[in-house]
Amino acid sequence: MQRGSLIPAPALPGTSLQKACKFLVAFCALHLCVTLVYYVSGGELSIFQYFMEHQQHQYRGPVGKSASLNRFQSALSAQGNATPTEESKPKGELPMCPETSPLLVGPLRIEFTISVSLEEMRQSNTEVREGGRYTPKDCTALQKVALIIPFRNRDQHLKYWLYYLHPILQRQQLDYGVYVINQDGENTFNRAKLLNIGYAEALKEYDYQCFVFSDVDLIPMDDRNIYKCYSQPRHLSVSMDKFGFGLPYNQYFGGVSALSKEQFQRINGFPNNYWGWGGEDDDIYNRISSRGMSISRPDGVTGKCRMIRHDRDDKNDPNPKRFDLIAHTRQTMNVDGINSVSYKVLRVEKFPMYTKITVDVGSPPR
Ligand code: BGC
Repeated sequence: MQRGSLIPAPALPGTSLQKACKFLVAFCALHLCVTLVYYVSGGELSIFQYFMEHQQHQYRGPVGKSASLNRFQSALSAQGNATPTEESKPKGELPMCPETSPLLVGPLRIEFTISVSLEEMRQSNTEVREGGRYTPKDCTALQKVALIIPFRNRDQHLKYWLYYLHPILQRQQLDYGVYVINQDGENTFNRAKLLNIGYAEALKEYDYQCFVFSDVDLIPMDDRNIYKCYSQPRHLSVSMDKFGFGLPYNQYFGGVSALSKEQFQRINGFPNNYWGWGGEDDDIYNRISSRGMSISRPDGVTGKCRMIRHDRDDKNDPNPKRFDLIAHTRQTMNVDGINSVSYKVLRVEKFPMYTKITVDVGSPPR
């Protein structure tokens, strides 16, 4: 007779210990299941989602430069050929771009002897959309900027402008569009009227808040010269090679300037009655100062820029009436400006790097 058949098997050590073990196994199994479900659902469980969103909002706040820089470090290292990886793309709403873009490189080598082609430009600026539009991928731009270029028969200069400016503007993390306002026909050139037209036409396309008015032959030599608007109208081409890297006179406001929509409206835009070369920029300066605004400028190093040397254009001789007109800026600015600009759009052409708007601006009074 076996002992075991008569005597009940000895109880395993403590029933409570057994229970504890069972509970532990059940708990581990539950934990395993939850983890599995989380991974299968791609991490979209609401509790995790809440946690992630909360993190993102913390980033959006006024956390200052260092957090923003970390965020953009990956974009910085990948710059050049870089579409951000899926992982680096933020989900949901994009954070605001930092006050200072981490992509800036500072001084640039600008030369006009190299050959540039629109096709090569298109290939190396793949994120620029048709019509010369660009929006940063990783963050919401601080400003929507329309770049307005008054134009006639300067295709070679335009190529250089596009070649140098597109990469700069992208590094400046602006939400921008390039508008070339082409004066049709052979009448005397009217730069300021073309700028007014550019303002009006760009606004028909997008809710721009800032307008940068640039001559086609001026290229910044430092990408820290940001093509955006400031609390006061901005003069950007403050240190031109043509003027020995300085200002020709203190009130000079020619070349490249930036006005917010509000600043532009406050001065009733630009004068329409300056036909031929000169004076319109001085008129704009007077409009600004007579409305109690001042000119903001970058320092002389950041504001360095090169001008493409060229002969004077046909039909753009110095305007002999400019001194008289300037003298009357204050009396005329309420009646002559964006409120009275008349023109006819003849063509709107969307090219890969820019939008070209050809206009009939009329002719100077006899
Ligand atoms: C003209 C301006 C011009 C400046 C610099 C002035 O006499 O009126 O239009 O920008 O010279 O060349």
